Amino acid sequence: MTTADVTIYGAGIFGLSCAWAIQRRGARVQVIDPDGVGAGSSGGIVGALAPHTPENWNQKKQFQLDSLLMAEAFWSEIDAASELSAGYGRLGRVQPVLDVRGLDLARDRIAGAAQFWRGQAEWAIVAAADLDGWHPASPTGLFIQDTLSARLHPRQACHAIAAAITAGGGAIRAEGRPDGLQLWATGAAGLQDLSAALGQMVGNSVKGQAALLDLDRRSGPQLFADGVHIVPHADGTTAIGSTSERAATDPVGTDHQLDELIARARALCPALEDAPVIARWAGLRPRARSRAPMLGHWPGRAGHFIANGGFKIGFGMAPKVAEVMADLILDGIDRIPEPFQVAANLKSQTTSA
Ligand SMILES: Cc1cc2nc3c(=O)[nH]c(=O)nc-3n(C[C@H](O)[C@H](O)[C@H](O)COP(=O)(O)OP(=O)(O)OC[C@H]3O[C@@H](n4cnc5c(N)ncnc54)[C@H](O)[C@@H]3O)c2cc1C
Repeated sequence: MTTADVTIYGAGIFGLSCAWAIQRRGARVQVIDPDGVGAGSSGGIVGALAPHTPENWNQKKQFQLDSLLMAEAFWSEIDAASELSAGYGRLGRVQPVLDVRGLDLARDRIAGAAQFWRGQAEWAIVAAADLDGWHPASPTGLFIQDTLSARLHPRQACHAIAAAITAGGGAIRAEGRPDGLQLWATGAAGLQDLSAALGQMVGNSVKGQAALLDLDRRSGPQLFADGVHIVPHADGTTAIGSTSERAATDPVGTDHQLDELIARARALCPALEDAPVIARWAGLRPRARSRAPMLGHWPGRAGHFIANGGFKIGFGMAPKVAEVMADLILDGIDRIPEPFQVAANLKSQTTSA
């Protein structure tokens, strides 16, 4: 007798979200991860769910918009089913307007948001007086505020979704016999495995380091300035992220690059100055060759599927990734945008005469 209709390898945000969506449609799931829930890139602390800019619209931006708009219902169901909290909150994001060019761009994006976000969220220009003392430094005294950005706590979100799956009858195991269809959501290691199996590089990993501070701004927006994310969490901590490092000798260690990031964040946002650092963390972001998520059938392996390539926005993309993967795996309906297909990450195959 089989114990699962679908076996999911990898208990990161992609594997867990897909398992949840598949289980919600009535299939039996087991998630197998020898290192446990949130052991990879998803066990982190930043959790900015922030949109691409509303301009030069394309399929990737539309998919991300759909996913960000699905997130509130997605995470509230998980909180209810798990009796835990993912720490989700749609509290927006504030960024400084640096100069006149930035102001012109912000005005264009207000129009872009009206056109592409269609009243579901706004892009606005605001002054410091509107921000209740919680904002980064701004040379113009002006800020961009969007109402689409949200936050969650990545590690807590992974444990909440795992508990929701278990509460619904699914299994999370360190090892087990494969049963049914198989979904590989194995992050950075999975990109390596896939590259080896296909005989070509389909992706790699990019290390990131982040810190958690003891600073309670839980009802404030996330801040973004000079490439630094400052993300207040619901539990009264505030995260700072992240470095971006291509060739990492120590994939999960933190070093002086994180110290520099913390110093930069404190210079950008004086409210962080005296807040003690309570945790340091590093992980490997799975980056597909196309830099977009890589979703679909495993080429040449019937009954095997891939959900990988979350790179820097895996948590923001997860609700929609889970939906399209459940459509594909359970119903055979392929709603994956062309740039996210596995084939988009493969070198074009040429046949010699
Ligand atoms: C510093 C940092 C900051 C980030 N900040 C954000 C952010 O603010 N917002 C955002 O949306 N994203 C952010 N990300 C990116 C996000 O964390 C990733 O996109 C996401 O975690 C990828 O999820 P995943 O499930 O694909 O991979 P992972 O979380 O890496 O999960 C893969 C899992 O597969 C398991 N595994 C590997 N091989 C096997 C096997 N053979 N069998 C079974 N299991 C296996 C591993 O143990 C692991 O648990 C950040 C990442 C980093 C590193």
